[in-house]
Amino acid sequence: MNTQEFITAADGHLMHTYNRYHIVMDHGDGVTLYDADGKSYLDFGAGIAVFAFGYNHPYLNGALKAQIDKLVHTSNYFYNEPAGRAAGRLAELSGLSRVFFTNSGTEAIEGALKLARKYAYLKDGSNDHEIIAMNHSFHGRSMGSLSVTGTKHYRDPFEPLIGGIRFAEYNNLDSVKAELTEKTCAIILETVQGEGGVYPADPEFLKGVRQLCDERGILMILDEIQCGMGRTGKMFAWQHYGVQPDIMTLAKALGCGLPIGAFLAKEEVAAALVPGDHGTTCGGNPLSATAANAVLDLFGQSDVTGHVAEVGAYLADRLEELAGEYDMITGRRGLGLMQGLVFREDYPLAKLVQRVIDSGLIVFTAGGNVIRFVPPLIIEKEHVDEMIRILKGCLENPV
Ligand SMILES: *Cc1c(COP(=O)(O)O)cnc(C)c1O
Repeated sequence: MNTQEFITAADGHLMHTYNRYHIVMDHGDGVTLYDADGKSYLDFGAGIAVFAFGYNHPYLNGALKAQIDKLVHTSNYFYNEPAGRAAGRLAELSGLSRVFFTNSGTEAIEGALKLARKYAYLKDGSNDHEIIAMNHSFHGRSMGSLSVTGTKHYRDPFEPLIGGIRFAEYNNLDSVKAELTEKTCAIILETVQGEGGVYPADPEFLKGVRQLCDERGILMILDEIQCGMGRTGKMFAWQHYGVQPDIMTLAKALGCGLPIGAFLAKEEVAAALVPGDHGTTCGGNPLSATAANAVLDLFGQSDVTGHVAEVGAYLADRLEELAGEYDMITGRRGLGLMQGLVFREDYPLAKLVQRVIDSGLIVFTAGGNVIRFVPPLIIEKEHVDEMIRILKGCLENPV
């Protein structure tokens, strides 16, 4: 089958929930992906901020192959060594002492919401608690996660979603205060909004939310599914701000391609969940937990976060230059290797991105008018230069 025949056959049976590019990816190596026709792509998307250490990594592949031959799955009725070890390491890195492993990001959010509600329920016995979420947030596609996702057109067709959710403006503390009630039990936000357009939290805002939560006995839930795991130049983005959440969610780069997510919580908060309250069949199975351990090993083998800070600053500078050179680009924002290039609202960005991908560079969009750069964390400055060269080539001609 050639590529077109394959795509036609696949389109005959896959649900039409994605507007996919007409490319069949075949294999990858380092920061390069190859399609089934052998064409190469410099990857500044990393499978949506997942493949932090690049493709075909010998250490990751070796760890996974060894675990496949040992034990892939057991169920959570038993202990398994990789999950226990990964939990201890994440607790150590975050200071959040309890970890629950899931299969995905959206499932980590579900767990975080359930934990917040149960914790509040145990405190006052009532079950009409409210959660404040942010406009333009993205927390996933399951019913609970969608309920706290601040893009109305994602939510509307699926209403009624879970109740008791109020939306506030991100980076606007007064707007959060305006949504507070006696019933508020948690505030959920991304430390850096990803999907919504790459908006880092303002330090004053994040500290203000922390303070509100402390004053009112409300839980602060930080979604680090995209911005966590070294992406911003610290292991967790909140470590830039001098605040610590009560609950944190992880996924994406945690397994570098193996489906694993987690929600973590402070001891006292986590104690609200007892046997029977929550579970998952495959979450944290030996294979996916081995991926998480291998990823954590790689963070220990070199100064990955230092590298991200350095190359991230270089990427930000090069994007600032582009913003200065082209009128259709209005600015740049981001943190570390999570950067967004902001285009004029009326610019046909989807067409540009198609051209960029045809030119052998993978980037994704965010928030409608932003190109999002979330490359593998091992990217080097020369890759940034090559990316800028391809992007400029595409910007020169009108789309
Ligand atoms: C991707 C993402 C999710 C959802 O994760 P899935 O693994 O796709 O379910 C949730 N929150 C944020 C911030 C994300 O970027």
